[in-house]
Amino acid sequence: MYLSVFDIFKIGIGPSSSHTMGPMVAAARFLETLRGSPFNPVGLRASLHGSLAFTGVGHATDRAVILGLDGVTPEAYDAAAAETALARIRATAEVRPDGLPPLRFDPATDLVFDYDRPLPGHANGMTLSATDAQGDVLATETYYSIGGGFVRTEAELAAGDPADQGAERPVPYPFSSAAEMLEMARASGRSIAAMKRANELARMSPAALETGLARIWSAMSDCIERGLATDGGLPGGLGIRRRAHAIHSALMAERGMNLTPPHTINDWMSVYAMAVNEENAAGGQVVTAPTNGAAGVVPATIRYWLSHVPAAQPSKIGDFLLTAAAIGGLIKHNASISGAECGCQAEVGSASAMAAAGLAAVMGGSPEQVENAAEIALEHHLGMTCDPVKGLVQVPCIERNGLGAIKAVSAASLALRGDGRHFVPLDACIETMRQTGRDMSEKYKETALGGLAVNVPNC
Ligand code: SF4
Repeated sequence: MYLSVFDIFKIGIGPSSSHTMGPMVAAARFLETLRGSPFNPVGLRASLHGSLAFTGVGHATDRAVILGLDGVTPEAYDAAAAETALARIRATAEVRPDGLPPLRFDPATDLVFDYDRPLPGHANGMTLSATDAQGDVLATETYYSIGGGFVRTEAELAAGDPADQGAERPVPYPFSSAAEMLEMARASGRSIAAMKRANELARMSPAALETGLARIWSAMSDCIERGLATDGGLPGGLGIRRRAHAIHSALMAERGMNLTPPHTINDWMSVYAMAVNEENAAGGQVVTAPTNGAAGVVPATIRYWLSHVPAAQPSKIGDFLLTAAAIGGLIKHNASISGAECGCQAEVGSASAMAAAGLAAVMGGSPEQVENAAEIALEHHLGMTCDPVKGLVQVPCIERNGLGAIKAVSAASLALRGDGRHFVPLDACIETMRQTGRDMSEKYKETALGGLAVNVPNC
């Protein structure tokens, strides 16, 4: 099994990797099939199903599909240009993707929220169609946004995960469980980051890997800074105000005054995470880590380490990201990183496990201590539901990322106090998360039909 660090950490747009980024990626894939096809499409249609229909408006799925069909990609997203494009599309009922003629697409009629027909493959289904001048369908494809910005067609989903099929070149450390990972670390004498780096280098050059890792951290760090600098309200109708800016200003003012209690360090961890998730909620550019909803935990933990832990070395950020990606890959492979599949334990729980592992690694932990750190963080998110109020990735998501970062730091610290021996193996914890997610009511899996989503008055 092989998932690249750049599959886990992808630069994308908020607020949701499964409901915003995935649908935009699906639109890009559909346009690509049309570019190479013998059809001469005149128009496009899109329908959203299951969770994409129920919480699509709150997650800006409609916006992502409209912009995606206009040729916008998550990597190249520019907020100001996107607003201009949306106004043009709504006024002209036409999209203009590169490499294709202008295509009829009236968002008011050609984009359908189909609440009654969930698609069989996954909770997040969508169908895209190209039509002729009479409106008859020339080509159609069903896509599933399976979490973390990953998208599969119906056929791809049926064929299984390409990561399972040993596609492309083999990697030197093909671990598919934490037990295998530790065994390979023992046999090779290498750290988890070193094994992951060797796996990446089987597929890309050292320069591409280092440039890519630097770009990921740069995008994460920029997102923290934008979030800390920006005040005001968040979109969506809940009336939630951004808090990171004010909290950060207060923390800066208190610095060096010796007035604050020791637990104030938790506020620093929270504020870095909240800055990212407020940017995400506002539709800004974020890095999936492993998803948009959980995008704050890993950057906040790295920033905490860099800014607050003596002797932290920026040169080790790559090792942090590689270790975190190794853990994220194990969780995705053996359970899920999708709130729609397994609830928030799979999103913030996975992010916390990844961040705990990364921190333990850069603070000198052995592979066993790193695995222990990931296990502690994930174990104490087991059972956590996904119940975003009004379907917006705001409540409980923004604060939850702060608490996810705090748990990650605590888990790493506890693991580093031990010698790596521990009672619950990470593999058992991941399997428990999978089973718990399977048994969890659909109400608690990103549908906004249960939990806080129905118990908090939101209008
Ligand atoms: S509750 Fe958790 S899983 Fe659900 S949208 Fe928020 S961050 Fe994602």
